[in-house]
Amino acid sequence: MSVKTIAILPGDGIGPEVMAEATKVLKIIQGKYNLRFEYKYAQVGGAAWDKYRCHLPEDTITICRKSDAILFGSVGGRVSEQASEKWSGVEVNSLLGLRKTFNLYANLRPAKLYPALTSASPLRADIAKKGFDILVVRELTGGIYFGEPKGRIGYGENEKAFDTMVYAKHEIRRIAHIAFKAARTRKKKVTSIDKANVLTTMVFWREVIEEVAKEYPDISYEPMYVDNAAQQLVICPSHFDVMLCGNMFGDILSDQAAAITGSLGMLPSASLADGRFGMYEPGGGSAPDIAGQGISNPIAQIMSAAMMLRYSFDMNEAFKDIARAIESTLDEGYRTQDIRQPDCKLIGTKKMGSLIAEKILSS
Ligand code: NAD
Repeated sequence: MSVKTIAILPGDGIGPEVMAEATKVLKIIQGKYNLRFEYKYAQVGGAAWDKYRCHLPEDTITICRKSDAILFGSVGGRVSEQASEKWSGVEVNSLLGLRKTFNLYANLRPAKLYPALTSASPLRADIAKKGFDILVVRELTGGIYFGEPKGRIGYGENEKAFDTMVYAKHEIRRIAHIAFKAARTRKKKVTSIDKANVLTTMVFWREVIEEVAKEYPDISYEPMYVDNAAQQLVICPSHFDVMLCGNMFGDILSDQAAAITGSLGMLPSASLADGRFGMYEPGGGSAPDIAGQGISNPIAQIMSAAMMLRYSFDMNEAFKDIARAIESTLDEGYRTQDIRQPDCKLIGTKKMGSLIAEKILSS
C-alpha cells in the first residue's frame, strides 16, 4: 500500500476547523483508492508564536522537508491587532518563508463560478449567467516583489523610492511550461498577461512566452495587456481559460478573479516547486470574525486538498471525485453562511465537510 506523508499546518483562526473537514474528506479518499496518508501536524503563524516566539519554527520546516506535500490552513489575527508582537509580519514570515524555503515558484489559483452560486457573484446577472472557470497561473518568486536593487535615496523633496522588475529567461520559461501543461487538461487556451507596450521586462516576458507557445501547437495562445485583462475579467470572464501572469499582475488579477466568484471561502490554491512538491492552501485568510463558531466554509480547504491529490500525488480521479461531490452538494442547495441564498439549506462547517465526504463514498 502506498503511503504519502502530508505536513498539516492548520495555523490560526478558522484554519484548524476547515482543516479538520479536509482530513475528513481525505480519509474517504484513502479508503477508496487503497493508500495511506500519514499526517505530520506542525505549527505555523500565531499558533507557533506562543511556543517558539517565531511564526515559522525550524521544527515545522523540518517536518515539511520530510513530507511529500504541505497542506496549509491560514495564519493571522484580528486586523486591529496586526501591530502586536505576536501578529506583526505573520503572513510574510510564514507564507513567504515557506515559498522561499521550498522554492514554490508556481502559484495556481482556480476561480470558478459554480452554476448553483451564480447569484452570489457581484457580476451583472447576464454576465454571471454565462459562468466561468479560470485558472490563474502566477509566477511567485521573481519579478518586482523580489528584484534588486530596491530602496530609498535622497532627502526632502528629492527623496526617491524604487523597486526593480527583473525576470530571467529560465524563470519565465518554467512558469510558462506550467501554464501550457495545465491548459492541456482544460480548455486548451493560454492568455499571457503583460504590459509589453510600456515595460522592457514585459517585452522580454512576451518574447519568451511566444517561444514556449510554439512547443504547444495544440494550445491556443494570446497575449493581453494587463489593463485590458482587468476589464475583460468583469465584462467577459468566460473569455479566459488559463491566465499566465508575472508575480505582481498575478497577485492583483487572481484576487479580482476570486472576487467575482462571490466568496473567498470557495477558493483553493496550489504553490508548486519543481517536481511534485507543493503547498496547498485556501485563498482566504484566518477569518477571526467567525473563528470558533462552526460556520466557516470548508470548501476552499477541501479543494486545496483535492489540488494536492492532483498535482503532488498524480491522483486525477480522486481530484475529480472531490470536485463532483462539492458541486452536487451545492446543487442540492446546501450552503454555509458566506454563500447563503434565499431558500437554501443553511449548514455549518462540519456538516458541509460530512456531506461532501458522504457524496464521495456513495459515488
Ligand atoms: P479573511 O480572508 O480572513 O476574511 C475576509 C472575510 O471573508 C471575512 O468576513 C471572513 O469571515 C470571510 N471568510 C474568509 N474565509 C472564509 C471562509 N472559509 N468561510 C466563510 N467566510 C470566510 O481576510 P482579513 O479579514 O482581511 O484577514 C484576517 C486575517 O487573515 C489577517 O490577520 C490577515 O493577515 C490574515 N490573512 C491570512 C492569509 C493566509 O493565511 N493565506 C490570507 C489573507 C489574510
